[in-house]
Amino acid sequence: MTVDVLIRGDGAVGRTLALALSHQGLRVALLGRQAPRPADVRAYALNEAAQALLQRLRVWDSLPPDARTPVLDMQIQGDAGEARLNFSAWQSHLTALATIVDAAELDQALDTALRFAPHVQRVDAEVPHALLALCEGREAQGLEARGITVRRQPYGHHALAGRWVSDTPHQGRAWQWFREGAEVLALLPLDRPEAGHGYAMVWSQDAAEAQRREALSPEALAAELQALLPPAVGTLRPAGPARAWPLASLQAHPIVRPGLVLLGDCAHQVHPLAGQGLNLGLADVADLASVLAQREPWRPLGDPTLLRRYERARALDTWVMARACDGLWHGFAHAAPWARVARNRGLALVDALPPLKRWLSQQATGSARASSTPLPHSSTPSTSALS
Ligand SMILES: Cc1cc2nc3c(=O)[nH]c(=O)nc-3n(C[C@H](O)[C@H](O)[C@H](O)COP(=O)(O)OP(=O)(O)OC[C@H]3O[C@@H](n4cnc5c(N)ncnc54)[C@H](O)[C@@H]3O)c2cc1C
Repeated sequence: MTVDVLIRGDGAVGRTLALALSHQGLRVALLGRQAPRPADVRAYALNEAAQALLQRLRVWDSLPPDARTPVLDMQIQGDAGEARLNFSAWQSHLTALATIVDAAELDQALDTALRFAPHVQRVDAEVPHALLALCEGREAQGLEARGITVRRQPYGHHALAGRWVSDTPHQGRAWQWFREGAEVLALLPLDRPEAGHGYAMVWSQDAAEAQRREALSPEALAAELQALLPPAVGTLRPAGPARAWPLASLQAHPIVRPGLVLLGDCAHQVHPLAGQGLNLGLADVADLASVLAQREPWRPLGDPTLLRRYERARALDTWVMARACDGLWHGFAHAAPWARVARNRGLALVDALPPLKRWLSQQATGSARASSTPLPHSSTPSTSALS
């Protein structure tokens, strides 16, 4: 069997790519690991552009309503005094700042859509292909042997993810606290496990501390967490165990070679403090699908000139996001008193400038991209289900 595209790695990025390409009429093989994966307790804050892509692939509307909760308001608290920054969807002229999506449900919805997708086969070994798309995430190996340089910078922090239920309604509000030692604690509203009261937590912190907290009973972890929270969040009870992920920034270069292309976390990893990793990966998918759909009929899929169009399309977006997330984290990691004063004044200053806040939230939500990016479509209208 020969396919047009072999996708190695069946995380959210690999699965979405398989769907997008199959909608163009390309023959796709999807190669994942056979080992069962532990339950994913994460939730993703997905922006408007990511939602638009999933909607066109008929995945978004198949998510159970309680697996996606819009964020209407976000409260960010600095690590000194009363410095805070508030974003509101209403003030930013947006319907939502982001939508929090249950990671396990998204995987499931993608899987179901793939079962009905034409031209996609799951395979358990490599098959002959015109183009290899690597979507192996943080487990990717052997990239150097393919002429790709990988710059990886561990943060020395782990992100602890878990689920909670509050006795107080979340009202669509997300919370984020910057704490001493560049700790970042976020509670994101998610109507699962309980409508109006559920929260998904992402708590990035020193690796040893995260591992200690991961080993605590849910009740003991709840007590530690509760002690850090303002009364407005309410009293939390655990909705399952927490799990820790090591954090690093990563940039692969180049992200294309003849016959080869990288997408998602194996091409770039960012700190989760801005909730942008999967958004970047899904933007990779949209841009690659668009480049392949618009190729000249005589150009092979693995053609270096064609693939460089994808590389150029992704360069600015990923560079800016990587710098922004890294810069923000290092800004908060600086222990000097002057640095603390400066960053907290910075937060308060941005809060006092509504036009700047509006611009920032539109960038983070990807609303400009959602309305301007051509979405993947087929050059042969009869096979396209996306346009
Ligand atoms: C705690 C936490 C919170 C996050 N929150 C957000 C958020 O709010 N918003 C957001 O946008 N992003 C968020 N992210 C980032 C997001 O999780 C990642 O960017 C995203 O999951 C990357 O998807 P991926 O498919 O590229 O990689 P992965 O999810 O790592 O998937 C890669 C897959 O490839 C498989 N694989 C690896 N090697 C091979 C091989 N040789 N052969 C076959 N298969 C292979 C792996 O088993 C895996 O299933 C968060 C991350 C963390 C850790």
